[in-house]
Amino acid sequence: MNRPIKKSKRKEIYVVACFFVIIFVGMIAYLINFVTNGAKEFVYNPYNSRFSVFADDVTRGNIYTADGHAIAQTSLGEDRKEVRVYPDKKLFCHSVGYVDKGMTGLEASYSFDLLKSNIPLEEQINNSLTGKKSPGDDLFTTLDYDTQKAAYDGLDIFDGAVIAMEPDTGKIVAMVSKPDFDPNTIAANWDDLTDEKNKKSSLVNRATLGAYPPGSTFKIVTTIAYLRANGGNEDYSFNCKGSLKVDDYKIHCSGHKSHGKEDLLKAFSNSCNSAFADIGLNIDPVDFRGTAESLLFNQELPTMLEHTKASSFKVNSSTAKSIIAQSAIGQGETSASPLHMCMLVSAIANDGNLMEPYLADKIITAKGETVQQTKPKSYGDIISKDEASKLQSYMEAVVMDGTADKVDFGDLKVYGKTGTAEFTNNKNQTHSWFVGYAVDNSGKKLAVAVIMERAGYGSKYAAPLAAKVFKAYFE
Ligand SMILES: [Zn+2]
Repeated sequence: MNRPIKKSKRKEIYVVACFFVIIFVGMIAYLINFVTNGAKEFVYNPYNSRFSVFADDVTRGNIYTADGHAIAQTSLGEDRKEVRVYPDKKLFCHSVGYVDKGMTGLEASYSFDLLKSNIPLEEQINNSLTGKKSPGDDLFTTLDYDTQKAAYDGLDIFDGAVIAMEPDTGKIVAMVSKPDFDPNTIAANWDDLTDEKNKKSSLVNRATLGAYPPGSTFKIVTTIAYLRANGGNEDYSFNCKGSLKVDDYKIHCSGHKSHGKEDLLKAFSNSCNSAFADIGLNIDPVDFRGTAESLLFNQELPTMLEHTKASSFKVNSSTAKSIIAQSAIGQGETSASPLHMCMLVSAIANDGNLMEPYLADKIITAKGETVQQTKPKSYGDIISKDEASKLQSYMEAVVMDGTADKVDFGDLKVYGKTGTAEFTNNKNQTHSWFVGYAVDNSGKKLAVAVIMERAGYGSKYAAPLAAKVFKAYFE
């Protein structure tokens, strides 16, 4: 005969049952969380030295340029072991990244997708049963092969960076940084690449992470601040005598040239340092900083690309006049990344609207079906249409009869700003800058930022390289 369970015993059973239910629910929740979020985190973990556990069942997918060149692929090496191969060696290294010695670049940010196979389920099961791996999904980037090559070859022996983007979509078409590295031999050369004594920082993507003095390319920002301080009024006149004394500091025009009488457009196209120091001193410092910040200085940039807060503009109400004067011409404590300068001219080209830069266009299956497609995303207007139109005409004047008038841009209509930036007290050593955009007959546009370290005049080095990048893209 069944004895009735004592009340205290019943309570014990109830507690134990509840305990197991809680553990069970917890485990289910953990599994669901792992599958939806954790698995992705696990695969993304750059310290995962193996490709990942998924690599046991899936062959890591390929990475392509927009025009279909494989720039990262998985091949069978010795012992039929899988090896990741980068056919163009150094050409795409900072964008694509690597998978040995941790993961970087697109290899890191799209690792989960490359190790996922979206071929039909029955094929996956069949592969599984026969011990075959399924092919992972492929990633198509926004990079254009010829434009990337022109940028890479054009930078030549110089350290620096080139970045080019479509103003109306935000697609990054070229991104080069030097010194560079070969991702095929990253493990073998690791000690040399990471040796702090050689100070090369080859693994750093200078296009997105480089903090450079923007030099005269910053006059774009100073011009916008001037327009805002004067309600959009362009009236300005200045008589350049080749230099301007600010307290104990003397600002010189390039080559000690006296530019004479100038309006705002002339001061901009001549890149007159004396006029722009004067302009900077006539803007309220707090408003000046406000304009710089509205143009994303001292800010995180709106982009999926890996970057740091590389751009800074420190002027405030207590800043000394001599520092304000230097900051207005992109020297002093002012810094900018090539990516940021490219975004700025891109917004000018796009009538004020900034599109968020991106590098990954779509994920497709090994059968060619699209799994995921990136849609261009607008960050909003960082300058007004009216400001954009005025800057467009100033930048046109730079190329028509200003500092870049000797550069051969072919049939393209080009708008730009040169820069020759000092970075030490040695005035013979300067970085060469060009930022701007080109338009072809059909109205298609490309924005670019070029910096060549220690190269000299922007008009002599960076602007001709920009011309090569434009020609490669439009031809
Ligand atoms: Zn001048």
